Amino acid sequence: MYSDLVERLRVREEKGLRRVRRTIEGPQDTHVSIAGREYLAFCSNDYLGLANHPELIESACQGVRRYGVGAGASHLINGHSSAHHELEQALARFTGFPEALLFSTGYMANMGVVTALLGRGDAVFADRLNHASLNDAALLSRAKLIRYPHLDLTALERRLAMSPARRKLVVTDAVFSMDGDIAPVDQLQALCEKYQAWLLLDDAHGFGVLGKQGRGVLFSASQARAHSPNIIYMATLGKSAGVFGAFVAARSELIETLIQSARSYIYTTATPALLPCTLLTSLRLIEQDEWRREQLSRHIVQLKQALQSLCWPLQPSTTPIQPLMIGASDAALRISDGLREQGILVPAIRPPTVPLGAARLRISLSASHTPADIERLANALWQLAKAG
Ligand code: PMP
Repeated sequence: MYSDLVERLRVREEKGLRRVRRTIEGPQDTHVSIAGREYLAFCSNDYLGLANHPELIESACQGVRRYGVGAGASHLINGHSSAHHELEQALARFTGFPEALLFSTGYMANMGVVTALLGRGDAVFADRLNHASLNDAALLSRAKLIRYPHLDLTALERRLAMSPARRKLVVTDAVFSMDGDIAPVDQLQALCEKYQAWLLLDDAHGFGVLGKQGRGVLFSASQARAHSPNIIYMATLGKSAGVFGAFVAARSELIETLIQSARSYIYTTATPALLPCTLLTSLRLIEQDEWRREQLSRHIVQLKQALQSLCWPLQPSTTPIQPLMIGASDAALRISDGLREQGILVPAIRPPTVPLGAARLRISLSASHTPADIERLANALWQLAKAG
């Protein structure tokens, strides 16, 4: 038994695909400490820099004092607190849907939606670059998983038109997690209406960042204004919101269906109430602190300008996810290691997370970075490029 595992691990190591964890000592911020050394980090999804905000920390403490530490049970037994309820109402209002439902994680939210809506004889249409949780959800639902080339709506339409499936669901990242580009939501919405398909939008990386007051991809300038009744909106709360968790927002009938049938909602302990308490403060800051999004935009422009003629190109992303395309996995690792030696952390993302030959450094920017931080990263990359 174990010799099989050892062999599999050996092969992974040999291929240079072994994943490693680094232990962060202290708060997760733009500067982190590992084994006693301080690093400037471009790894976090805390895009607005809220994860260590004193008001969030205070709300968490108040939440603990009021509700204790553990929720004690699942939502349908006894774990659903007034803080969960209040946050759900606030999230529905903020995203412009009649109702919202909290899940423990984005992974579980995607599982819950897809498995509650679909089964055998149904079909999920998925962008090839979608997050793994959407693919896993489709597999678990037993619906047929039909993938289409990245952002290729003609290919998607062909597949939708040909499919004999009873129920159809199109699933897409709103902001692609490894590329930073944005799905054309208005066109997807039109296609889904034409073919009577649901559209599950995973806005894990757009919520808080895109759109007026950070309301997400459905509120960004280029997208349709009115929410189609076909849309199921999912966003996570561990990225821009700086805390933990996720929610689904949609029409009431859909939310009630999830409460009744989403197994990843029903058969798990509710998150501690201190989290919704903290997230209510986070939501207020997302809404009111426009300067965080403005700062982030300035950082994106600065990084793009600084790396303009570097030998490794940035993807044409306008979001805080700025992937620097390297190509070969070993080269991506080498550059990531080179940066780390200079005290800068940028993760190398390799296959199978991204397609073969598309290894990259995933630079993620936060409003908490300073212009000097970005200059330091750019200088280090130029140095590594010159050294070959
Ligand atoms: N969807 C996307 C697009 C993501 O990037 C992630 C997290 N990396 C998830 C879903 C899962 O969210 P969570 O971390 O809350 O499980």
